[in-house]
Amino acid sequence: MHSSMILLGILFGLLAQAYTLPLKNSTAVHEGKARLKRRYSDEITDRDEMNAMDHILGVNRRLRVPRGMLLREGDIASSYIRSAITCPGNACLWPKSIDGFVYVPFIVSPLYDDMDRITIENGMQDISSGTCIKFVPRTHEANFLDIQPRYGCWSFLGQTGGSQTLSLQTPGCMWSGVAAHEFMHALGFVHEQSRSDRDHYVSIVWKNIIPDQMHNFRKQVTNNLNSPYDYSSVMHYGRYAFSEDGGPTIIPKPDPYIPIGQRDGPSMLDLHKINVLYNCGANE
Ligand SMILES: [Zn+2]
Repeated sequence: MHSSMILLGILFGLLAQAYTLPLKNSTAVHEGKARLKRRYSDEITDRDEMNAMDHILGVNRRLRVPRGMLLREGDIASSYIRSAITCPGNACLWPKSIDGFVYVPFIVSPLYDDMDRITIENGMQDISSGTCIKFVPRTHEANFLDIQPRYGCWSFLGQTGGSQTLSLQTPGCMWSGVAAHEFMHALGFVHEQSRSDRDHYVSIVWKNIIPDQMHNFRKQVTNNLNSPYDYSSVMHYGRYAFSEDGGPTIIPKPDPYIPIGQRDGPSMLDLHKINVLYNCGANE
């Protein structure tokens, strides 16, 4: 039994490697860059310049979504039944404990290696060190995150109840900023440029968007938590998200050169918004 599990693990590892191999060897890295260049325009020629969302869309682009599931805005999972990506009345928030912390229980798939686990934990830490959110290994809790290396990087929005999958493919999604991005979805946050007030801060260049991807730029009814629009949110699409021929799809205004997005982790304002949404600092 045990050895067959190990064999399965090795098989899965090989499969996952074969799937992502093009980014590993040097010729393929070059090809990958060339592909990116075509896809995201000449301004992005290096993976290092990509923000968290660019990485996520890059990985998820090749994804075949599991049956019965939809991915909205590139990486927000929903079942056909629960199709809305809003969270009316904050019904999808994780409950606050009497000690003022919000405990988010999780389990991590044994298919990850030590480095993967460190990356995932760094993503958690970047959120928990600045907020009242505490990610804790599950013991008996009914509602928890089940972190798995499925295909793609995606999460459901907020707490769905029961076991909820959060996918971080390895190695494609193994960046702590990408993990933090998905954790923020699981905490109930949508993408920054989906904010109801976004048109004051960015122009969406509809003609540059792949026609059947325009739905990814819909505005949502969002609670903006009295916080300013955050160009450097880890939840912001990149400038060339869903671009048809490499032209920008999002241009900040009035200054079009404001950098957008973030790859390292949550911005100060992201942390602030978590603190406001979960009323951190105020014991109930
Ligand atoms: Zn996302």
